[in-house]
Amino acid sequence: MQTNGILHVWRLIYISILIVIPICAIIKTPLFIKNDPRLWEKLRVNVINVIIAMALVELEMQLGIVKFAQQESTYIECLVTGIVYILIVETHYAPWHYAMHHISFLYPIHKLHHSVIEVSPIDSYFMSHMDWLLSFVCIFIPFVWGFSISEKTHLGAMVFVGVTGILEHTPKWNPGHSIHHTKSSEHYTLMSGVWFNMIGEKIENRMPMLGKILKKI
Ligand SMILES: [Zn+2]
Ligand SMILES: [Zn+2]
Repeated sequence: MQTNGILHVWRLIYISILIVIPICAIIKTPLFIKNDPRLWEKLRVNVINVIIAMALVELEMQLGIVKFAQQESTYIECLVTGIVYILIVETHYAPWHYAMHHISFLYPIHKLHHSVIEVSPIDSYFMSHMDWLLSFVCIFIPFVWGFSISEKTHLGAMVFVGVTGILEHTPKWNPGHSIHHTKSSEHYTLMSGVWFNMIGEKIENRMPMLGKILKKI
């Protein structure tokens, strides 16, 4: 699989959307809200954000920051490499997301995404260009630390994050992220947010004291 940054981002978004469409049909959730007065604004921002991601990744590849390794030899190796890659991404994204909500001069970067209260899948890419760009920096940051991953495994891991990232904008799939949109300092999600919410809610139910502490953080 020969690639460049533009093609890699295109494959990632295209495959994620192809997976999301049947899931949304099964859980009976439309991709966007009917008669949404901001629909064209959202489409415009989404298209520009996709172009920004393609340009950023292509630039990182040209500069040699993003370099794919040889294909991992076994499926287990692919799985472990993909999981570790996602964990590294999350350890950068989670504090960054938290910081945007708690440091006043950073919140304007994230404000546009939170201007949507009734979320739908189309809103997953609806964020300010700076917010989006910095999310993509987090997505590719393991390469900066010299993490080695093949192109196919990276694509698989990022499709997973892409699909869960879109699906968290469907209240039926992930009610927690809808709460995060309304009360912005609660229910933080990771990039692959669905799992975090499930774990978080379980902790709150089983260990109320720890749940209270986590809520205060
Ligand atoms: Zn969101
Ligand atoms: Zn947020």
